[in-house]
Amino acid sequence: MPLGEFEIIRRFFQPDLPGVGVELGIGDDCALLQLPAGCQLAVSVDTLVEGVHFPQDADPFQLAQRALCVSLSDLAAMAADPLWVSVCLTLPGSDVAWLSGFAAGLQHTLGRYQCALVGGDTTRGPLAVSVQVMGAVAPGAALRRSGAQPGDRVYVTGSLGDGAAALTVLAGHYAGTQVQADYLLERFYHPVPQFAAAAQLRGLASAAIDVSDGLTQDLGHICRASGVGALIAVEDLPLSPAVEVEPDPHQRWRWALCGGDDYCLCVCVPPERRDAVQALVEQGLLSAFCIGEITPGEAVICQLHGEPYALEQSGYQHFG
Ligand code: ADP
Ligand code: MG
Repeated sequence: MPLGEFEIIRRFFQPDLPGVGVELGIGDDCALLQLPAGCQLAVSVDTLVEGVHFPQDADPFQLAQRALCVSLSDLAAMAADPLWVSVCLTLPGSDVAWLSGFAAGLQHTLGRYQCALVGGDTTRGPLAVSVQVMGAVAPGAALRRSGAQPGDRVYVTGSLGDGAAALTVLAGHYAGTQVQADYLLERFYHPVPQFAAAAQLRGLASAAIDVSDGLTQDLGHICRASGVGALIAVEDLPLSPAVEVEPDPHQRWRWALCGGDDYCLCVCVPPERRDAVQALVEQGLLSAFCIGEITPGEAVICQLHGEPYALEQSGYQHFG
């Protein structure tokens, strides 16, 4: 007998732990939530659709983990601390094994990032997962897209191009070893939200964004919001060994510049705070790679060893 909506919610979406500030969780028309004193609420929602954001037959545990991490990445990008999550699940049917895997992935990831499931919605239709995340941030402490100034250095907090390379693994034409393919799939299904890096960069970065749709496009969002341009030194882009496997350097740089799904942070740092960032890197408290600088212009321009480097594609856009 297929499970009904309420049976699914009862069996699979009851939280393990009560959660910080949760006065009333799942089960009523709304959750009632109490922010820590003096904090602002940071809210974001992201949807993953089967066949668009993840392959058909994706493992449900990994899918839940990815959906949650992708949304948490937005909180990290603002330097907000995660508190609460709601999940809207559209399912083609009530497959108990699938739901068990999904619920296990969800609970695992909620525990890992210390946040509580407080609500959601369960409907029938083509498979899609929306995760709304809510977090807390002190007034004035959030890292916005709008604070970059000419002369700021641009950093990323992790390697670029892994998300795009992972798509070649999923499509079955990745050329590297099994270990490297596994590394890329882990990066795809578990994009680690950069809370630790954000905590270090709070008070140092002038602007930040998480790299979800490709570096040039996402840095372009910082530029538009800040009224500036940016220059990227292509030879300085940090690439993982799994991306270096690709023999064509232009393909590697295309993945790094235009591929999505990397979920590291791209941050801008004013000249007077560079030493502080460098010190954190040297002490092993922060992973950050300088890839360019903010300019007075308005576009993102790429250079390879000082020469213009043309891109024939930008980042991912729906309806693009
Ligand atoms: P309503 O009809 O008032 O929107 P629902 O019947 O959809 O309420 O949901 C009942 C309760 O279960 C609500 O508290 C809702 O937040 C929660 N819920 C529904 N689906 C999910 C889900 N996939 N994950 C977590 N909580 C859920
Ligand atoms: Mg409902």
